[in-house]
Amino acid sequence: MTLLQKALCDKTFVCIMEFVPKPSAQRFSAVAALMARSQLCGWPLTLAIADRVGSPLDMSPLDAFHSLERPVPALLHFSGKDRERRDLLAQLPRMDAAGVDQLLLLSGDRLPGHRPGERPVRYLESVAALQIVRQARPHWWLAAALNPFKYREEEGGAQYFKAEKKLAAGADCFMLQLGFDAQKHLEAMAWMKRQPNPKPLIACILALTQGRARMLEHVAGVVVTPSMRALVDAEAAVSKNYARERSVNRLALQVIGLRLMGYAGINLSGIHDLEQLLALEQAISTWQPQLQSLEQWAPAWEASWRMPGLPAVTFNPPDANWRLGESSVSASPQEQARYRLLHGFHSLLFSRTTWASRAFGWAVRRPVWSTATGARWLHRLERGLKRPVLGCDTCGNCRLEDTLYICPETCPKGLANGPCGGTSLNRCEFGDRECIHGIKYRTAKTVGQTAVLTERLIPCVEAGSRHRSSWPRWFDGASSAAQAPLPDKKPE
Ligand code: SF4
Repeated sequence: MTLLQKALCDKTFVCIMEFVPKPSAQRFSAVAALMARSQLCGWPLTLAIADRVGSPLDMSPLDAFHSLERPVPALLHFSGKDRERRDLLAQLPRMDAAGVDQLLLLSGDRLPGHRPGERPVRYLESVAALQIVRQARPHWWLAAALNPFKYREEEGGAQYFKAEKKLAAGADCFMLQLGFDAQKHLEAMAWMKRQPNPKPLIACILALTQGRARMLEHVAGVVVTPSMRALVDAEAAVSKNYARERSVNRLALQVIGLRLMGYAGINLSGIHDLEQLLALEQAISTWQPQLQSLEQWAPAWEASWRMPGLPAVTFNPPDANWRLGESSVSASPQEQARYRLLHGFHSLLFSRTTWASRAFGWAVRRPVWSTATGARWLHRLERGLKRPVLGCDTCGNCRLEDTLYICPETCPKGLANGPCGGTSLNRCEFGDRECIHGIKYRTAKTVGQTAVLTERLIPCVEAGSRHRSSWPRWFDGASSAAQAPLPDKKPE
């Protein structure tokens, strides 16, 4: 059992230092110095190594792990960006050889240069990745991501629906997106406590300064509101030292608050040297004796976000403040009509039970369609019929029944199980459309099919099945999520 697993098992608050690997000896020696400290305020300190934060050419977490002066049991990240099942499976034996058995599985944010409509980029999504690793390595410790910092119902509701799938797929722990909104941290904790088999939550945090607030504006899924920016700007205008002190103070308060909320630990970003770590430790030690309950903590936290002459800071974007449990959206008449029409059509032709469906299934499984020419024509026919209506990309494994008849290939990342964390007020991370998973959420809620979005774990599309007709496979019974192998139960 690694230090991280033991801490979570013993319910000891744990600190994870996030390391974004770069081939720089200075960075590696800074990490070594931080890890040599081995604790923060007496809490065990361990390492996470990020994957593909910049580009696919970044140093891999495993290579970074091997480059550490003194190897520490690290939590490796695996980003699904521009990857397929085979890439994930290829990593597992390398991790075995390195003695690493813990992995955070992420779909990944937008690959630099990926523009919809240009070169297709595949993302191995986290739910499918969890299923793959859980089956291949039932005893490994697997973490998944959750972004609770959502302020519209569709995007927030869809996040939690997908998180239910991640639990079903075998997640042992959830790592939250970087965020500052304590109400959302509480909300995520309340959600987890309601799950039949709750898992630990770890919050990702960083000391917010003026420079970082500017940088975070370009990080998908991280919310820094205008009033937060105004505050860090005002702090920086006083002096660099003042701004630094205030940001470390807030970080210390956030650590204390998260611990009081029941978080299992923190994932610290932006700590690059021992001096920063010691400054944080000093601030936590100063505050901790006075703040023994959330009631004592809340006024100190609020005060840390106030400055004379500035309006109160709000953590929700202007004009959007959805909270988990609030339910007001419903599908438009057009969305409902679309769903009902496609559902009726699907039931008629693809249910495998009506005479029309059986006849269609018989027709598309004739040997003629197995020949190269026949397969090409069947592919053309399916694409010609479905692309104008659904945006079909003939992935060869139709998942429409499990996605409320909204084709997952119309998501720029091709995600089928739910949204990534990068949406902003229902808009896709790519900025050019409403997130399809928000539309799915609205439709599912209105037509009474939300279980489809929480229970059906949709496996990834295999590289070799793309650009073929999905029909023969569908009628062979190999296409729906219902046939997807469920993960083996991890031994307790
Ligand atoms: S899931 Fe695949 S086959 Fe079905 S509509 Fe989308 S791209 Fe086409």
